[in-house]
Amino acid sequence: MASEQDDFLFLDHDEETHEQAMTNDFWDVLIVDDDPEIHSVTKLALSGVEFWGRSLRFHHAYSGKEAIEALIHNPEICILLLDVVMESDDAGLTVVKRVRDELQNHNVRIILRTGQPGYAPEEQVIREYDINDYKMKTELTRSKLVTSLMTAIRSYQQICELEAQSTALTRILEASHAILGHSDMKTFGLAVVMQLAKILGSEPNGIVSGIHGDDKRILVLGGTSDYQAFFGQGLEQLDNGRVIMQVQNCFDYEKHQQTEHDITVLLQGKSRRAAVYLELDVKPNPAQLQFMEIFLANVSVGLDNIKLFNELRDVAYKDPLTKLPNRSSFAQQVERYYIEGNGKAPENHNELLFVLIDIAQFSDINNGLGQEVGNQLLLVVMQRLQQEFIDSELIARIGADVFGLLLPKSSFDEQHFIDALMIPYQVNEHILTMHFHVGVCEQSDFSQQGLDTLKLAYIALNQAKQGKKFLDWYSPDLEEKMAWRLGLIRQLRQDFEYGKLEVWYQPQLSLDTLEVIGCEALLRWPSDNGHYISPAIFVPLAEDAGLIVDIGQWVLEQACLQQKKLVDIGMNISVAVNVSVPQFKVANYAQGVKDTLLAHKVDPKKIELEVTESVVMDEIGVVIDTLQELQEFGVEVAIDDFGTGFSSLSYLQKLPLARLKIDRAFVKDIPDNDSGAIADLVVSLGRHLGLKTIAEGVETQPQLDFLRSLQCGYSQGYLHSRPIPALKFEHWLIEQAVESP
Ligand code: C2E
Ligand code: MG
Ligand code: MG
Repeated sequence: MASEQDDFLFLDHDEETHEQAMTNDFWDVLIVDDDPEIHSVTKLALSGVEFWGRSLRFHHAYSGKEAIEALIHNPEICILLLDVVMESDDAGLTVVKRVRDELQNHNVRIILRTGQPGYAPEEQVIREYDINDYKMKTELTRSKLVTSLMTAIRSYQQICELEAQSTALTRILEASHAILGHSDMKTFGLAVVMQLAKILGSEPNGIVSGIHGDDKRILVLGGTSDYQAFFGQGLEQLDNGRVIMQVQNCFDYEKHQQTEHDITVLLQGKSRRAAVYLELDVKPNPAQLQFMEIFLANVSVGLDNIKLFNELRDVAYKDPLTKLPNRSSFAQQVERYYIEGNGKAPENHNELLFVLIDIAQFSDINNGLGQEVGNQLLLVVMQRLQQEFIDSELIARIGADVFGLLLPKSSFDEQHFIDALMIPYQVNEHILTMHFHVGVCEQSDFSQQGLDTLKLAYIALNQAKQGKKFLDWYSPDLEEKMAWRLGLIRQLRQDFEYGKLEVWYQPQLSLDTLEVIGCEALLRWPSDNGHYISPAIFVPLAEDAGLIVDIGQWVLEQACLQQKKLVDIGMNISVAVNVSVPQFKVANYAQGVKDTLLAHKVDPKKIELEVTESVVMDEIGVVIDTLQELQEFGVEVAIDDFGTGFSSLSYLQKLPLARLKIDRAFVKDIPDNDSGAIADLVVSLGRHLGLKTIAEGVETQPQLDFLRSLQCGYSQGYLHSRPIPALKFEHWLIEQAVESP
């Protein structure tokens, strides 16, 4: 008997730790960093901060190993502020992997921090290990830290709540299952009392009674030991007026009865009903009462001996907000559509597509207009999907702001799809224009495992995000492409560390005198086969991987060294260096440039920076200050590739610039296929703003003559010289000087 009863008991020890975490007065934050300074700075920056009435409590670890130990001993830790580089370059990432894979701690939120941007983890890693945020230590000001922590704690809370709900449901499912296994009324009754007591947090002490026969007599059907003697007898036999009254009221009013001493609940089967009386030690909370209802709804079935588990199972497989199938359910259902052999669909088989739809910037709506509006938006988006794609086989809510559709391929029209989603959404008084990212996977690519199919669509979705496209299709080579990118980034990082990158130089000439006035430093990455990988390919990769900050600093140093060398050979010309957006975003970028120039004792007038329009358009205020600081120091700044993307000319006037570089696109077809009108326009714009103009990509004499006729100041291009290695460039300069003294 005892062992049978044990079967019904909830396994409650991990529930306790969970409740501990939820009833904590603090948010426990673990700082992991090998630099003690960072610990104190972080604590200082966050002193006095409270979220939702709870203050922060800090734990400290100074290595990856200590971090793991701290997490094992303090399960209440909810946030990990984790240094990437500690005892080894990837100590931080190793911690992340152990936390998720070994400790199976999926709740703790992780904010990675690093001093060196080159150590940014790859996007795939961020996704796979559910890393919340990634920050440079220099970015960790009080306000940024607070925002970062607030978002992370909120997400931690949501995860805990979801988990609590789903564990509770699973337990009820198990409990009900155990109970319904008993066809014997007596054991059934006892089990119901036991489980109800567990749910409401009281000692099991109660009875189950039911109405029997034509005379509607109330009989004792089961209960705990105090009532054993009364099984099968009339309730009136009990020497307990309170029980009799409560049970009688429960049947008469067809409602639960609750006093501060007891609760009597109605179990309503199809053909029978019963009342369960339970003494209360503590007043149940609303959540407990809610779970009690689910429990009762399920065990009441036992009264009729009908197993209605499917309904309960639904609860675990449905998204509570939209009532759509959730991620697990989707993953399970999509497996039915897997085509054996993973090839072409059979003839005249109506092939399906799996379309994954991600609402862009959904969190802005949630944070800006409130969660209620966010929820409403999800509902109207769902309605839109249901209305527009009536022939979809399945609509599911895959993630917070991600929906999944299974659609016949024949009815999928990409443009219609986009148009349909882009019509603004009405939520209360708001008219919201939303943007989306969409990933599509064809049925022939579906995997046998539903979750794997999901992953494929996510690959396409991420590809769309990266390419700033609305929609992208999965293709097996996407995975290859991603692997290729990652491989290339890894190789680049390694080659850079091993000093394999080179800087080449291309001269810049005055159009008036044809004198060499400067040169541009251009990166070169030699590959194994003796070729060079174009910076047009690897610079964007280096930007994505955060590697460009270190590489860019190195290029600047090389340029300084080279400028000194040019002075030594009697050619005191300026060297132009290209700068990318991420470099500009590093705090105190201007100061860093100044320090480098000072360290190399280079005349600031002889180093020029080339920034593209994308640099300028990014956080214009910061950019203006930085440019100002550089200009005051004497470093001139040129706008590179001018004319290809500048969205507002009005900014141009505000920027402390020295030169405009006319993009090669406006030079290359002059004079035959291009009248040179744009080049003309840029030159006069420059003149108007008091800026020098230089043309890039000058390849022919007619182009040069034309540019000179426009009174463009300078010229750079293959006509004069291609970019060449430093030593070769020095020789070229000397020859040049000899030819035209
Ligand atoms: P960019 O700054 O606009 O550099 C000019 C590009 O035009 C160079 O390509 C140069 O080789 C090429 N070019 C120069 N004259 C001619 C010509 O007459 N005809 C033709 N067809 N092309 C000409 P490159 O070296 O392949 O560099 C491509 C881009 O990579 C650069 O464009 C720049 O945006 C980026 N880049 C290069 N080095 C660095 C660097 O150190 N840091 C950063 N952030 N970006 C760099
Ligand atoms: Mg350039
Ligand atoms: Mg350019």
